[in-house]
Amino acid sequence: MTGGAIAHDYAGRLARVAAAAEEAGLDALVIGPSQDLVYLTGYEPLPLERLTALVVRPGATSVLLVPELERPGALLAPGASAIETTGWLDGGDPYHDVARIVGPAARRVAVGDQLWALHLLHLEQALADAEFQPAGPVVGGLRARKDEGEIDALSRAGAAADAAFGRLVADGIGGRTEREVAVALAGYLLDAGHQTADFTIVASGPNGASPHHEPSDRRIAAGDVVVLDFGGKLDGYCSDMTRTVSVGEPSAEVAETHAVVREAQQTAFESVGDGVTGEEADRAARDVIEKAGFGEAFFHRTGHGIGLDVHEAPYLVTGNDRPLETGNCFSIEPGIYLEGRFGIRIEDIVALTGDGPRRLNEAPRDLLVVG
Ligand code: ZN
Ligand code: ZN
Ligand code: ZN
Repeated sequence: MTGGAIAHDYAGRLARVAAAAEEAGLDALVIGPSQDLVYLTGYEPLPLERLTALVVRPGATSVLLVPELERPGALLAPGASAIETTGWLDGGDPYHDVARIVGPAARRVAVGDQLWALHLLHLEQALADAEFQPAGPVVGGLRARKDEGEIDALSRAGAAADAAFGRLVADGIGGRTEREVAVALAGYLLDAGHQTADFTIVASGPNGASPHHEPSDRRIAAGDVVVLDFGGKLDGYCSDMTRTVSVGEPSAEVAETHAVVREAQQTAFESVGDGVTGEEADRAARDVIEKAGFGEAFFHRTGHGIGLDVHEAPYLVTGNDRPLETGNCFSIEPGIYLEGRFGIRIEDIVALTGDGPRRLNEAPRDLLVVG
């Protein structure tokens, strides 16, 4: 599997990550199967007990160590020409191979956040003099700055999610179970061009008060407020959007609560820009909801970065004092959750471009009345 149909500058990414590693005082990065590996090489093997690891060192060619039987596949990866690929045989010791590539002088080694604990424990033994740390801050910082091709892929994924939502609204959802609606929505995501439909939250009535509710056999009825949060991957990049709809006319309370979330989402959208911190963006949404008296009913962060992974840096959350910057793409998704009654959330993906923030989802954000 590869990272999709678009051509990415793997050599440039590898050079930048090696420079970032050097700047962080690291002797090497060891990256296992993960979207970090996809970002750097376009190679997407299954994570298995046989070690696959990309070793990045400042000032040296990156080496991809793979099980010998997977070497032919690894050589087909779009970024293969920018690295050296070497195989290890069953019965061998790939951890000592990594140690040899990293070199005996290495003291500070960062491992990818998704490298299995099993592999890290073996690496710690093979590199007994090295100190280990997570590579997330180094790789995540680079991944968070999307180039034009990546923003284009995210915006096509966003448009496809919009199209799927539009079809669902046209169908209506009343009288069907959450699970039936979730299956239909997944089909629409694929029809609209996604290669995978990864999640379809359909949370009706009181289920809407649980932000990550799993679709159930509850039958959606007139008067229900329904949270729809869904996404998948298109050309390797993720979509993730949420709309809340009313089956039949909403009560005044539902309409007013929805208007608060709508205003919070808009206010946060207007707040973001180069130099604004993740915490400040979170605060912008939270202030609106707190002022309306629903502070305790908004109990999650305002947003997360998105790209090859559906959740990645930067996070719009209390405590994130890193400034946002041009190229960042992230969700803005405030919500209000009233236990035992209903929930409301509105989520768009937003790209920080040179011309300011741009939404990658355009489906109407008003409370839609559906059949
Ligand atoms: Zn979520
Ligand atoms: Zn979502
Ligand atoms: Zn999200």
